Amino acid sequence: MPRAVTTKAIKKKSSGRDLAGEYDILKQPAPATPPKLTRLRIGIHTSTSGGVEKAIERAYRLGCNTLQIFSSSPRMWRASSPEMWQCNEVRRLSELYGIAPLVIHTSYLVNMCSKTPEFLDKSIVAFRGEVQRGLSLGAQYLVLHPGSFSGGTREEGLQCAVESISKSVDGLDLASSNFKILIENTAGAEYSLGGSFEQVAELVARLRPKVPVGACIDTCHTHVSGYDVVSENGLADTLKQLDNTIGLENVPVWHCNDAKADRGSKLDRHQHIGEGKIGIDSFRRLINSPMLAHAAFIAETPIDEPGDDLRNVDALKSLVH
Ligand SMILES: [Zn+2]
Ligand SMILES: [Zn+2]
Repeated sequence: MPRAVTTKAIKKKSSGRDLAGEYDILKQPAPATPPKLTRLRIGIHTSTSGGVEKAIERAYRLGCNTLQIFSSSPRMWRASSPEMWQCNEVRRLSELYGIAPLVIHTSYLVNMCSKTPEFLDKSIVAFRGEVQRGLSLGAQYLVLHPGSFSGGTREEGLQCAVESISKSVDGLDLASSNFKILIENTAGAEYSLGGSFEQVAELVARLRPKVPVGACIDTCHTHVSGYDVVSENGLADTLKQLDNTIGLENVPVWHCNDAKADRGSKLDRHQHIGEGKIGIDSFRRLINSPMLAHAAFIAETPIDEPGDDLRNVDALKSLVH
């Protein structure tokens, strides 16, 4: 489908996911009939512009039955807690529309294995806030990038991440709220923890006695960190490796992003579903895999032009057998 690029569309590029203004799906007429869903849980990272409860309505109108949000600005240390009425509204709308799970992505600033004490302290406080907001909103999962151990060793980083995460949730009751922290695999950049399934598995294993935990696997990160998700045999082998390390049952959320960069490049650049190096057939195989029937699939694709969010959700849904 050709995409008309207007001046306004170009202007929107700079603001990324913050879809305020006239292109916001909430500014369009409400759908007369409920959007069609598939048998799978499919969603997208959704803007909370105007209030966290607005994200649920946006996800519904985008035809999603799951979603991911930031519960505060991902680039600011200061975070305000949602009001009680907002938490109630999030729960009410999620129930009304049958939207679950609600996934929260941790702020980009948080680094649970920072070698800088001041930064680490701030990260621990911020992460505790993330967990508290997640519990208030009735979220099921909080996704966390395991962090960067620059200035130390990988083992120190791993140990620090375990201690910092445990410290952050001290005294909070995650288990009875059915709330889990999900460690996301990363693109494998130098000093970043979690660039292989083994590393994520090790962190998950060390955290398990202290906190309810699982993993979130990102298709773009998996591809650029070197795994084969493109060929049919390669994907089967990659899923086997994932099962042997983290365990597929411990991966309730997949981030579905195509990749702009080559396999093994370690460059984390997300692309629209089917328009990158991973390709549409690989996503078809992935989301229809009976081994992943329990998982939610959530896109974190770019918004280069108005409507890209809807197009990527539709692209994933069109693949469901
Ligand atoms: Zn991701
Ligand atoms: Zn990424």
